Amino acid sequence: MRGTGRDKMNILVLNSGSSSLKFQLIDTDLDRIRQNSDVRLCRGQIERIGGEAIVAIESQHGPRQKFTVGLKDIPESLDYLVRWISSDASGITAVRTPADVHAVGHRVVHGGELFAKSTLINDQVLKGIEECIDLAPLHNPNNIKGILASRQVFGAKLPQVAVFDTSFHQSLPEHAYLYAVPYHLYQRHHIRRYGFHGTSHRFVAGRYGLLRGLSKEQTNVITLHLGNGCSAAAIRGGRSLDTSMGMTPLEGLVMGTRCGDIDPAMVNLIAAKEGLSMNEVEALLNTQSGLLGISGLTNDMRVLLQELGEQEDRRVRLAIEIFCYRARKYIGAFLACLGGADAIVFTGGIGENSPEIRARISAGLEWAGLKLDHGRNQQLAGLEGQISTNDSSLHAFVIPTDEELLIARDTVHCILDAQRPSQSEGASDVEELRI
Ligand code: ADP
Repeated sequence: MRGTGRDKMNILVLNSGSSSLKFQLIDTDLDRIRQNSDVRLCRGQIERIGGEAIVAIESQHGPRQKFTVGLKDIPESLDYLVRWISSDASGITAVRTPADVHAVGHRVVHGGELFAKSTLINDQVLKGIEECIDLAPLHNPNNIKGILASRQVFGAKLPQVAVFDTSFHQSLPEHAYLYAVPYHLYQRHHIRRYGFHGTSHRFVAGRYGLLRGLSKEQTNVITLHLGNGCSAAAIRGGRSLDTSMGMTPLEGLVMGTRCGDIDPAMVNLIAAKEGLSMNEVEALLNTQSGLLGISGLTNDMRVLLQELGEQEDRRVRLAIEIFCYRARKYIGAFLACLGGADAIVFTGGIGENSPEIRARISAGLEWAGLKLDHGRNQQLAGLEGQISTNDSSLHAFVIPTDEELLIARDTVHCILDAQRPSQSEGASDVEELRI
């Protein structure tokens, strides 16, 4: 990092799961961030950790590689990864030893009410992430394993940063985050809406501001992250004012296998009628519902759209209609929450790649000032740009999300902020729209 003429950093971004490790190595610094010219040195994932693990890696100049290797746990997998990156096999000349990795940025699912911003990890922060395990029992423990493994592999001195899925939505006002259930449930158990996909909503809203030459305060948008998981966010003055996911990522939009909004009384009814336990009903709502549940075919939107083109299948058509209707309903609600917006921003696998779904969601929003430019909409797949007509008063944009890039950039900012404490005085106490 030193003596290179710039504060260059190779940031390893980790998303640590129960038996998987997703990673990217990104070369970045303040200049690269300003110029949007960060370099992705490699990306990939290790899956089925605990036995014969499958390693898939793609580096900047090399071909995509896929092979198996016995890896017993996350620390062993990380150690293997770092040795591979540093070896000749990787072709990554910027990293010759583990010391050429200058920091690690971690995706952490839940920061509860403790973390409203990305933060440098120390023992106290680690304890805070542990305290949030109750809120994300399936995810936070794995994220912690990734942090501890990084300490083991790189040593305790290497800066590590936690970037939370929830923190961008910590700006929600009380009237948006509280459920209308007895207040003591919030006081005793922190039961409230948190929202997720915050890194993605923040990234695309920030990119929108840059594309339009807007300051953070001028950025008023509704962002729609439509992937396997789906959520919407209502953003005013660069801050999240409402979002569709709640206490857990089950609430809100229709998703690949998740139901989104339902009447909570259904849970008991389904349990009684189907002879299921509460846990089994919750699993059904998480893994057997959404596009999969309605179509009875698949959670994969691409396959559903293909089917729809080839034959008339009522349930496939319904799955797509319900998906788009729910998204449009949220746009209407969020326009009311925000008192209007400048644009809707589509992102996520479906939002970035499917002109048809974007058109179906936008149809009938002319009253709100949205006029889709069908030519532009058709042309934009996986690319960034405007898909509304120039005279629309509510615009529509497609902006590919890049959560890993934002994690790498947050890591740089957190490290530099810590080195310049005087400059961070007076900084916002919630996540800035800084990308
Ligand atoms: P995840 O939430 O797991 O990150 P993605 O953001 O990759 O998922 O989104 C996956 C979804 O995107 C799948 O439903 C997939 O079918 C859909 N998708 C990807 N490409 C297209 C496409 N060209 N047209 C329609 N849907 C697409």
